[in-house]
Amino acid sequence: MAERLNIPYESIRSYIVFSERCTLKNVLSSDISAVITYSNLFLTYLRHDLRIGRTVYTQKGVDALYGSLEPFSHATEEEKSKHAEQTSGSICPWCGGELVLRQGKYGMFYGCRNYPRCTFTRKIK
Ligand SMILES: [Zn+2]
Repeated sequence: MAERLNIPYESIRSYIVFSERCTLKNVLSSDISAVITYSNLFLTYLRHDLRIGRTVYTQKGVDALYGSLEPFSHATEEEKSKHAEQTSGSICPWCGGELVLRQGKYGMFYGCRNYPRCTFTRKIK
């Protein structure tokens, strides 16, 4: 993103926010460009970063940036249909949610769309 926006890499920080219902395991990051946190601590990190950070954009710059990124926030019909193909057409036997194609540590599998509330998985035949 920094390259696309033509701004220094250090100017961008990602916030990866998890629900308090999650248990984060083995989450270690030496990458200072990302903050991994629970949602109840997110604003604390954000306020801290805003306090110590320097201004990179004026409001006009933010508006221009928003305008250049906003088109990417919409899925095209082609993208939607491609996404739909990744569903199994099957229903989770545990909760009735849709089974969708997922990438895991050991390869592709079908998992319940309601993950993490439901952890049902099925091998791809
Ligand atoms: Zn389920």
